[in-house]
Amino acid sequence: MAKGEDKFDQHYERQQEDRKRAAKNRPGEDEEPLPPPVDTIRKDNDEPGRNDPCPCGSGKKYKQCCLIK
Ligand SMILES: [Zn+2]
Repeated sequence: MAKGEDKFDQHYERQQEDRKRAAKNRPGEDEEPLPPPVDTIRKDNDEPGRNDPCPCGSGKKYKQCCLIK
């Protein structure tokens, strides 16, 4: 009867070890998350695509509206 229990215990211990290892390898729980890439966002706001609708709301393409002003 004890044989089955031994097997279960071994399996259980192995699971616990795996969990400890996973917790150790989990990156950056104590570190702060990286800030968002502000540069990319700013670039998008400053320069819309030339063929995109103009951000001023005229409905024209940006290259035919505020880009040439
Ligand atoms: Zn415009």
